[in-house]
Amino acid sequence: MNKIQNKLTKISLLLMLIIPNMVEAQPIRLQEKYQRLPFGSIKPMGWIKDQMKKDMAGFVGNLDKLVPDLINDPIYSTGRLHKNSKIKDLGNLKSGDAAGDEQYKWWNSETQSNWWDGYIRNALLLDDQPAIEKVKQRITNILATQDQDGYLGIYDKELRYKFASENGELWSKTTLYRGLLAYYEYTHDDTVLRALIRAVDNVMENYPINHSQPFYSGNDFSGGVAHGLTFTDILDRLHQITGNPVYLNYACFLYTNFSNNHSSEKDAQLKNILDPAYKFDCHGAHTYEHLRPLIVATFSSGDPDLQKALKIYCDRIRCSLTATGGPIGDEWISGRKANGTNTGYEYCSIHELTDSYSLLFQKSGNYAAAEAIETIFYNAAQGSRNPDHSSIAYLKTDNSYEMAGTRNGEVEVDKKQTRYKYSPVHQDVAVCCAPNAGRITPYFLQSCWFTERDNSLVASVLAPNVLETKLKGQKVKIEEITDYPYNNLFEFRIFSEKPIQFKLKIRKPTWAVLVKTNEHYQIDNGFIVFDREFEKNARIKIEFLSQVEIKKDMNCERFFKYGALVFATPFAGVEQKGRIYAEGFEDRMYFPKNMTSYEFQERNEANYSEGKIHVLLKNKVTGKVEKVELIPVAKTILRQVTFK
Ligand SMILES: [Zn+2]
Repeated sequence: MNKIQNKLTKISLLLMLIIPNMVEAQPIRLQEKYQRLPFGSIKPMGWIKDQMKKDMAGFVGNLDKLVPDLINDPIYSTGRLHKNSKIKDLGNLKSGDAAGDEQYKWWNSETQSNWWDGYIRNALLLDDQPAIEKVKQRITNILATQDQDGYLGIYDKELRYKFASENGELWSKTTLYRGLLAYYEYTHDDTVLRALIRAVDNVMENYPINHSQPFYSGNDFSGGVAHGLTFTDILDRLHQITGNPVYLNYACFLYTNFSNNHSSEKDAQLKNILDPAYKFDCHGAHTYEHLRPLIVATFSSGDPDLQKALKIYCDRIRCSLTATGGPIGDEWISGRKANGTNTGYEYCSIHELTDSYSLLFQKSGNYAAAEAIETIFYNAAQGSRNPDHSSIAYLKTDNSYEMAGTRNGEVEVDKKQTRYKYSPVHQDVAVCCAPNAGRITPYFLQSCWFTERDNSLVASVLAPNVLETKLKGQKVKIEEITDYPYNNLFEFRIFSEKPIQFKLKIRKPTWAVLVKTNEHYQIDNGFIVFDREFEKNARIKIEFLSQVEIKKDMNCERFFKYGALVFATPFAGVEQKGRIYAEGFEDRMYFPKNMTSYEFQERNEANYSEGKIHVLLKNKVTGKVEKVELIPVAKTILRQVTFK
């Protein structure tokens, strides 16, 4: 070796020591199929807008008044956690929780940040001025808590980034920063983006890439640490906003470090995904939210093992879904397969999976993911809301014969189960589901439109909404006028300053037996494509014709679908009020009035008219075949969805 070579080797060795990432090979990233539009580009219309307004007048807009101690805990500012911090009393019964009270230290950060995230998004999308004023104040207050070095979180200087057990370092940041990102994307307020970049820099400095262990947390329950893996939500979005690849490299590091450490929430660890004998075992919300870090790591690294793992993981999730799309999460999956009566789903799980499928669709273009978002949102999620009061079920099953605390009235040994009921808060269990029920609709709306590099606008998830964006430097607005999924008729009203050429792609649902429109179109990978010049005020009318579908769930029980909606026999219930948080904000339980259930008949003469499915089913009490009316799951409390 000559002297120059020797010197160069020394220099590169030195460089590797100082800046290890600069000399490592850059990953070959996978091409992402679609681009996400900035938050606020897609706003609600029609019934979804009405429902969001009701939520803001109800449990979403008032949660801070219902549990002020949790929401006002100054955990990010004067009340940051320190080594002598005590376990907080959150006013819950602690029944059915995983071992370990350590989580109660950080829990208020999740409650308040998830609630604020939903509140910020609802306020902005509804243009709710008083709420927006409150949001502005919140943003000012929270940015004022940022330290000189960029730290924006819940721990004092002595504790931060120095953990060997359960903690909420990354999770408390993730929940907070998601709301800040939404606010920035809507307002373009640079101070917010700068604060976010400094805060994320502070994480990357203190947990240096490939030279730290953010997921080392010992052998006990570490739910907060595992939730922290969704910090990749922040990194992925910051990369989309800034174009800086550092964030994606760091996201890969987080996933790898999570995979290589012990975790109580291990379903998404690479070795477990690649083990053919492994079955989902962990807390559902973790399992479904961890699809997102896996997707980000897969697309950022292009690693073939991760690509294989992503496919396996998606297949495993499919086995966890009930007819309505409700993913097992009551609260542990425990190796089970979905079942209409026996596997419950948590509202948090519903939200997390909906959001994960949205990311899957954006990056991979996976058509089934877009369809799954509709199934989950229009059925499991809507069907876990109380149709008459501003409250939600913490846990719900497809077949719901009683909502009085336990799963279908079962007596659960050693547990005082109270999750199967309707509440605006669910403080007796945990204030997690109510905040997430405030997030799901704004997040769902973000999946309605994506852009493609060839100047396409893609209506991926169908819903009443209005899109405002720019194409070829020109403002374009598209109103999607519809009562979908309660009927399948759409008018797309396209407004532009002058005639404009682009591709409008509308997802053709797999259940559509016929497409009715006067327009010329082509079909491309399940999308209806209108590729033409649109005049200034163009209108496209389109209708998807459907018929009653009789499908089988994972347990081979039958259920009935029409369009995007799953149907159920509703049962009358007797309502009993529980805890009163404030006037109009009560817990409600439901007992069956006359317990009946039905059996499937091969000769069922199922037909659809005026929002209902009429069908012949066998009454299990009388043994007689009856003509039964089914209504959308979304409009039910007690119900039967699947029939043996
Ligand atoms: Zn929850």
